[in-house]
Amino acid sequence: MKRFIAAVVAGVVLTASFATVLASSYVGNANSRKFHFANCSTLKKMNPANRVNFNSRDEAINAGYIPCKRCKP
Ligand SMILES: [Zn+2]
Repeated sequence: MKRFIAAVVAGVVLTASFATVLASSYVGNANSRKFHFANCSTLKKMNPANRVNFNSRDEAINAGYIPCKRCKP
């Protein structure tokens, strides 16, 4: 039974984080002032504390962020 609960909790956490990725297609790094596609590999190494979500490319540009050279958003 404990194992079942753990599996359900893991499933909910995975679904929630997946929904977060879908909700914001662009992610900025408050430290580097660059923004990325939400699936950019650079984001995996980024400190989550520096993560800024943007709903559009314009929103990121207007906030003074520059596009990542790797994922070219
Ligand atoms: Zn990137």
